[in-house]
Amino acid sequence: MGELDEAGFERAIGACPTCAGKTFEIASYIDRTMQVMLGDADNDGKWAHDGEKFVDGTYRVTCVNCKTNVFESAACPRCHHEGGLATALATPSRLAVPKKCPKCKELELVLLGFAPSVVRVTSGGRVPTPTPLALLGEDGFHVVAIACDPCGWAVVAETCPLCDAPPPLRARP
Ligand SMILES: [Zn+2]
Ligand SMILES: [Zn+2]
Ligand SMILES: [Zn+2]
Repeated sequence: MGELDEAGFERAIGACPTCAGKTFEIASYIDRTMQVMLGDADNDGKWAHDGEKFVDGTYRVTCVNCKTNVFESAACPRCHHEGGLATALATPSRLAVPKKCPKCKELELVLLGFAPSVVRVTSGGRVPTPTPLALLGEDGFHVVAIACDPCGWAVVAETCPLCDAPPPLRARP
């Protein structure tokens, strides 16, 4: 379970305790997948999370009207390591993306990563598509795994992909 569960999330976006505002900006670390060619992203990729993962990765909820943070956590959104969020946002990805598959030399690989995102939500409304704050190659985006479809080769980050804390990682919803 994340720092915030579904019930806590619903409470957080209910009404701002300071101004009773009902529109919030939510920052969350969520799964993003993309194809890479010769080590570079072909495109910006697409989100690969669901609602539970979105809630699980949430690290800040801010009232748009008065800027009160109704929820805030400095822990790593993935492993809950103390202070891990700052590390995740400020550092580059650690898992190197090879130019080609080390096994079959395929040039196009599939990558799964974690991207920080923001989205505006109004209480009672659905969550629109979040905007990524960092993409492959930028500080804050972290590669979780890389795979080659044709031959099945794959590599997965051994430490926490976000803050580099040692395993084991907690289970995600
Ligand atoms: Zn407010
Ligand atoms: Zn971590
Ligand atoms: Zn391969």
